[in-house]
Amino acid sequence: MKKLLYLILVFFFFNSNDTFAHPGGHYHKGDGNVLNTWRLNSGKTIQGNFSFAKDNTIYLEQEEGKIVSILISDLSIQDQQLAKWKINKINHFNISDNINTFPETSSPFKYLPLFLLCLSVIAIYFLNKHFFKNYIFNSRLGLSTFSFLFVVTIIIACSKSTTTTTSTISTPINTTPSNPVVVVIPKTNTASIDSAFSAFKPAISTTWDDTYFYIASNGIPNHNMMIGITSWQQQVPITQPYNGTNSWSIPLQPTYATIPLSTKTNLMKGAVAVAVNGIPIFNALNNRGEDSYKIGELDNWGGHCGRGDDYHYHAAPLHLSTTNGLKPIAYAVDGFAVYGSKEPDGAVMNVLDTCHGHIGTNGTYHYHGTTDYPYVVGAMKGKVTLDPATTAPENQVIPQAFTKPVRPATSPLTGAVITDFTAVGSNGYLLTYKRGTKNGYVKYSWDASNKYTFILTDTAGVSVTNVYQR
Ligand SMILES: [Zn+2]
Ligand SMILES: [Zn+2]
Repeated sequence: MKKLLYLILVFFFFNSNDTFAHPGGHYHKGDGNVLNTWRLNSGKTIQGNFSFAKDNTIYLEQEEGKIVSILISDLSIQDQQLAKWKINKINHFNISDNINTFPETSSPFKYLPLFLLCLSVIAIYFLNKHFFKNYIFNSRLGLSTFSFLFVVTIIIACSKSTTTTTSTISTPINTTPSNPVVVVIPKTNTASIDSAFSAFKPAISTTWDDTYFYIASNGIPNHNMMIGITSWQQQVPITQPYNGTNSWSIPLQPTYATIPLSTKTNLMKGAVAVAVNGIPIFNALNNRGEDSYKIGELDNWGGHCGRGDDYHYHAAPLHLSTTNGLKPIAYAVDGFAVYGSKEPDGAVMNVLDTCHGHIGTNGTYHYHGTTDYPYVVGAMKGKVTLDPATTAPENQVIPQAFTKPVRPATSPLTGAVITDFTAVGSNGYLLTYKRGTKNGYVKYSWDASNKYTFILTDTAGVSVTNVYQR
């Protein structure tokens, strides 16, 4: 009878302590599990592995199962993103939209087979003590059969609990892992990336080493510019020295980021991609966080000029597909290609993820340009290095090519609509804008010694000439 009681006790011990029955439970000193380090706004760090979230707090599990709580807002910006990503990941696997999500759920029925087995042994004992004593209790065969059944039912119980957990999935799981940890991406073939830029040579030139593919350009595209802008800062396009060590750089060996850097809250400073005509593509949001395209800052080609009179796109230059066919229209600064509105094989574009791309049929990730926000890059799928001198949201990826301004930055001209932009000679342009019913003009040119002359004529017909040496 003592043996029987012992067996029943063992059963209830297992039933009352979930973590003994499941792998991947708690973390113990020296057991080989690594605790994550969480950085706080205050600069302090806390060790612990994400367990669950409730309201605005995350709960970390430390050694010996100790749980500590941290307000999400107390975390560093980077770790707030990590926390949100983990919460989203868990919610993705849970039927509830509620943030109060525990990663593992228990079912009251998972130990039913074990319970029934013990119940039958007890029943046999009480109904026929003689049978129990001779054929189970004192028989090797009986005891081993019972032990075998006991182990089998524990296995069934555990596997049932797994089934119970996964059966709560309500949304289809994306078959593309959003954050693959160890994925070897083949190095970009230099001949293939070069062929995407070849149609725009010799206005641009390309070269490469083991690490980067370099694009040199003078920052002036082979299409007209400026026409269509209704929100104008009075900047105009001039050439830029994107060459030599100041060329645009695309890494040849992309790797997936653990957490793709969202362009909603990051990268509002430098380029996020470089178009195949050598023109940089900036975040869809300007440095005030506004959708440049929506507020009329962009011309009919998706571009405008920055404070250095540097022409760049904020929308996807889909018009480059006219020249480039099915080849990429740009390369993102993480090394992944940006295609136009079709797949590389000409098929209709597949569904895009939050980064604004997907894995192509060749197994490598690529982005697509579209006519809607975020237009080019929603988040940096690939790992990038951030310029330590910049802070989010106005941070930027390095290396970047830099602009070389020639004059002080100009201010917005309310109500001006750019109606015409014409080349004057080989080193100058005439920009025409309308304000109300009257026209204003910016006529500018530069000479071989880098002397820039700007003649500004306002809608009242008053002209001012400014000369700058670059
Ligand atoms: Zn801009
Ligand atoms: Zn695609």
